[in-house]
Amino acid sequence: MAGNITFTMIKPDAVEANNIGPILNMINKAGFKIVAMKYMKLSGAQAGQFYAVHKERPFYGELTEYMSNGPIVAAVLSKDNAVADYRKLIGATDPSKAEEGTIRKTFAKSIAANAVHGSDSDENAEIEANFFFSQLERF
Ligand code: ATP
Ligand code: MG
Repeated sequence: MAGNITFTMIKPDAVEANNIGPILNMINKAGFKIVAMKYMKLSGAQAGQFYAVHKERPFYGELTEYMSNGPIVAAVLSKDNAVADYRKLIGATDPSKAEEGTIRKTFAKSIAANAVHGSDSDENAEIEANFFFSQLERF
């Protein structure tokens, strides 16, 4: 079914703080199924490629360094309306602006170290899922 997957990363700050388990719990409780998952570390070049859309932004260097600084969990999630519902679950990019009960409000440390990534469109969800996983790794 088109539009029923999104891609997420649990970012280095949340992994370092031992919040993989609590975040996955919130994801499952919100009705998402995990259809692919891996624990890994990105190189600087891979982080740069993943966030290439932000290449011209002033925080690009900080972002790619931060994202390649420690291990992450990458996952593909499925649910009806997955992209929009997951953006709602994670909350605003800046955790000080995120709503109560969201993943970022609960776990993020700052606008840069904001605990999780979530795809912003169905098209990008597919691109991002394919960046990390082959079809053999998605169930
Ligand atoms: P993500 O793509 O990680 O889900 P987002 O879609 O909420 O986050 P984007 O605008 O796509 O936000 O920014 C990508 C990431 O870049 C943010 O999650 C954050 O880690 C970092 N970032 C964004 N704005 C800033 C900023 N002003 N200063 C530092 N880092 C920033
Ligand atoms: Mg984004």
